Amino acid sequence: MAVPLKQTLRIGAYVVRQHLSGARRYPLVLMMEPLLRCNLACAGCGKIDYPDDVLNARLSVKDALDSVDQCPAPVVVLAGGEPLLHREIDRIVRGTLARGKFVYLCTNALLLEKKLDLFEPNPAFTFTVHLDGDRDDHDRAVSRAGTFDQAVSAIRAARARGFRVNINCTLFNTADPERVAAFFDFAHQAGVEGITLSPGYAYERAPDGQHFLTRRATKDLFRALFQRGRGRGWKFTQSSLFLDFLCGNQTYACTPWGNPTRTVFGWQRPCYLLGEGYARTYQELMDETDWDSYGTGRYEKCADCMVHSGYEATAVTDTLDHPLKAARVALFGPRTSGPFAPDLPLDGQRPAVDRYDEVLAEGRAALAAAAEQAE
Ligand code: SF4
Repeated sequence: MAVPLKQTLRIGAYVVRQHLSGARRYPLVLMMEPLLRCNLACAGCGKIDYPDDVLNARLSVKDALDSVDQCPAPVVVLAGGEPLLHREIDRIVRGTLARGKFVYLCTNALLLEKKLDLFEPNPAFTFTVHLDGDRDDHDRAVSRAGTFDQAVSAIRAARARGFRVNINCTLFNTADPERVAAFFDFAHQAGVEGITLSPGYAYERAPDGQHFLTRRATKDLFRALFQRGRGRGWKFTQSSLFLDFLCGNQTYACTPWGNPTRTVFGWQRPCYLLGEGYARTYQELMDETDWDSYGTGRYEKCADCMVHSGYEATAVTDTLDHPLKAARVALFGPRTSGPFAPDLPLDGQRPAVDRYDEVLAEGRAALAAAAEQAE
C-alpha cells in the first residue's frame, strides 16, 4: 500500500480529534530541513541558492527533536538540501520514530546505498526518492547524467533490505504524459510502493524559471496523465481529493499551516515553498503569522501553486466534510474531462515582494543567536 493502513487510521483519528476539539488551525505534516546543502544543483530548485555559511549550517539533533516535540503533526518529512549529508541524520530519524511519528526521509539517493546501514527497516519509516521521470527527464531535471540509474539502483537495494520506498515526482511543463505514465509503471515494477506528485513550484530563485507549470497547464497535464492511468494500479501517497484538485475538479484555498516548516533558520513563514521570515518556535509561527496574506488569490507568488504542502491539508478537511465525494474519487479516479471547477480570482492578490536579502539577514541573525546559545 502507498500508505500503510495503520498510518491512515492514526492520521485519520488525529484529524477527527482536531476537528472535534474545534481547532481552527492544526498541522498534518512537519517539514524539516536539517540542512540546506545539497549534492545536486537541480535547474528547478529554489532551495539551495544561499552563501556557504548558510549551506554549512546544520540543525542539531537536539533542535530537530525539540521541533518534533513542539509540533503535534503525526508525520515528519525530512527534506533539505540533501538530508543524507547530515552526519547525524540517523539519530534524528531514530529520535523522531521513538516519539511515535511517521517519518519520510526525502533523498536524491546518491548516498542512499552507502548509508543504508545507518537505518533499520520500520513500518513507520519510508525513504522518498526524488525521481522526476524516466532516465532522460530525471537526469535533465537534476542537471547530472547517471543520477537516474544511481537512484533506481538505490531503490532496489533499499527494497531488498526491507525498507519502505516511495518516490517524489515533480513535473514541469516539459512532461509528456505518455512517458510519465510509462515511468510510473516502471517505478512500481522497481518496487516503489507509492508516488507523491508535485507540479513544480515556481521558485523565484531557481536557475531555470522557464519550465514551471501554470495552473491551467497543471490541470491539463494531470488530466492527461490520469486518463492513461486507468487500470494500471498506480499507488499515490496523496488523498483522492488532492489528486482531483490537480485535475482541476476542486476549488481549494491554500492551508499553509498544514505543513509547518522547520529550517536551520527557525520556523519558516508561511510554508515549505516560500520563505518570507522565521519564527523562533512552532507556537510563535502558528500564532503570529499573517496567514490571510498567503495563498492563491492573495499573493502573487502563490498564483500558480498547486503543491501538496499547501493544498493536501485543504483536501483532507474536504474529505472529512464530504466523505462520499472523496470515496467516489478514490474508487473511480479523478474526472479527466468536462468543465474545470472555477479558479480563485487573482484580481485582489497583493504584488510579489523580493524579500531575499531581508530574509537572509533574518535567517543569519537566527543562526548566530542559536550558535551563541549552544556555547
Ligand atoms: S499557495 Fe500556499 S503552499 Fe503555495 S506558495 Fe503560497 S502559501 Fe505556500
